[in-house]
Amino acid sequence: MRIFITGGAGFIGSHLCDYFLAHGNHVVAMDNFITGSPDNIAHLKNNAQFEFIKQDVTTFINVPGPIDAVLHFASPASPKSYLDFPIQTMKVGALGTHNALGVARAKKARFLLASTSEVYGDPLEHPQKESYWGNVNPIGPRGVYDEAKRFAEALTLAYHREHGMETRIVRIFNTYGPRNALDDGRVVPNFVGQALRGEPLTVHGDGSQTRSFCYVSDLVRGIAQLLKSDEELPVNLGNPNELTIKLFAERINALTENQAGIIFTNRPVDDPSRRNPDITKARTRLGWEPQVSLDDGLRETIAYFRARMKR
Ligand code: UDP
Repeated sequence: MRIFITGGAGFIGSHLCDYFLAHGNHVVAMDNFITGSPDNIAHLKNNAQFEFIKQDVTTFINVPGPIDAVLHFASPASPKSYLDFPIQTMKVGALGTHNALGVARAKKARFLLASTSEVYGDPLEHPQKESYWGNVNPIGPRGVYDEAKRFAEALTLAYHREHGMETRIVRIFNTYGPRNALDDGRVVPNFVGQALRGEPLTVHGDGSQTRSFCYVSDLVRGIAQLLKSDEELPVNLGNPNELTIKLFAERINALTENQAGIIFTNRPVDDPSRRNPDITKARTRLGWEPQVSLDDGLRETIAYFRARMKR
């Protein structure tokens, strides 16, 4: 297959490039490096099966040649980055999704949208099933991301219903691993960076809020399975192993042997209190299950950040 990946130099996008190249496909990646990085795809420079186009996907996209699948992964995705780029976040979710769907339609390609657990907002239902409509504050600081992704889901299904296009939607829950940007503000790079510098970890609030962390290789395998499947409605992918942020901080301090402990800082506005995917649908329809344990995934991630911080 010839696969077009928007956000191909991003954290998840670049792992998707690697995965599809390793499975014998040709990949065309697009990124404007607003939050992605040339470093994430530097190793693909001399790969004849890989092409890169530097472009903002909110402007008209022209990809020469046939395309079998479009994976739309371009977007700022960490709370810090979508607060830094609120308008670009809304534009990529709206105009970027429209352009990416347009490419898929013109090429008669299958389309897969990267959506998010943020469509559930600060959820009132636990764990979150795909049938839950969510509890989103449209005018709060996170609204720019949450509503952009909700719009993107609606637009994707509109293309499916009106044009009969083959579309897939993945709702991605917290994912971590190598190539997470050290400064993107997410809890994993923040905590690991602090721990490796011997600083106390900054736990927001009292740390009783929960998340569950999926290692990037598990996620990417699930996305490939979803693309192949005939599942047209959204599918959650994430790790259902839920833990509090305080416990998570203690785990990172233990794995890095950081003696500096934790400090409690202000909780961001609209920070979801609990988040945990119900992955019954992925298990039964895709036969997918996360395989990498938190400790194994964190060891790989810590090694990656340690090497980067030495540079
Ligand atoms: N968090 C924290 N300290 C940090 C960064 C994040 O306690 O230095 C918390 C954050 O408030 C949230 C959780 O960790 O409750 C996960 O935050 P992240 O930014 O990774 O993404 P989110 O899951 O909120 O989208």
